[in-house]
Amino acid sequence: MIAWLLEKIAFKVLESQNKALMMTRRQAIQQTVGAAATLAALGQVPSSFAAQPAASGPFQLPKLPYALDALEPHIDAKTMEIHHGKHHAAYIAQLNKAVIGKPALQGRTVEDLLLSLSSLPTDIQGAVRNHGGGHYNHSLFWQSMSRSGGGEPQGDLAAAIDKSFGSFASFRERFSEAALKQFGSGWAWLIWNGRQLEVRSLPNQDAALATGHTVLLGLDVWEHAYYLKYQNRRADYITAFFKVVDWGFVRDRFAHK
Ligand code: MN
Repeated sequence: MIAWLLEKIAFKVLESQNKALMMTRRQAIQQTVGAAATLAALGQVPSSFAAQPAASGPFQLPKLPYALDALEPHIDAKTMEIHHGKHHAAYIAQLNKAVIGKPALQGRTVEDLLLSLSSLPTDIQGAVRNHGGGHYNHSLFWQSMSRSGGGEPQGDLAAAIDKSFGSFASFRERFSEAALKQFGSGWAWLIWNGRQLEVRSLPNQDAALATGHTVLLGLDVWEHAYYLKYQNRRADYITAFFKVVDWGFVRDRFAHK
């Protein structure tokens, strides 16, 4: 698995170097300036991995709300760099590709596209479900973690968790079990179904949003989210996630459900 990942990364580096060779000086300067601005916003020391050319199309990779190493030691910087800069970027590139030549879809938000999946042209429903779902899910995921995260939620959210699950400990157990037992790739979700809080797991990049419920928190359990640091120890990654969950962010989503 590691060898496969390294090979894939090495190939991508080679590919970007080849592209760089073909760029004009003006393009190279523009890309460097763009990447430097992004890195400055992230408070990062520049590295060849972090420099991302802008996606071509209406959908763009959102900046991380913190530095790549902000969630160390729970989520390591290298995983963040590849997960955000490569995996999330790839979902966006594929989503952009899906809406090429479909101007009516290009001005719509990814949320809107996911909520109206069945009314989209049939030839792009799969791409929107997978790559649009990937874009939406990851955008939410980055925001739901913070260096100062962890602990337990407060206020109305804490009360709703107690009411729906009995206690925070019991919610955490249910959520962790859903994350652990998701066979293959997928996500564990905490949603508001209109009456109560609920834990669900969904495969692949299927967006809990598309169920019509309010999505409060999601945990990515694709191997790419944890393999570099945790290898096959998904349970340890789930434990680590709870040390960085930004409950203030989740509480704010709950308040606006
Ligand atoms: Mn992911």
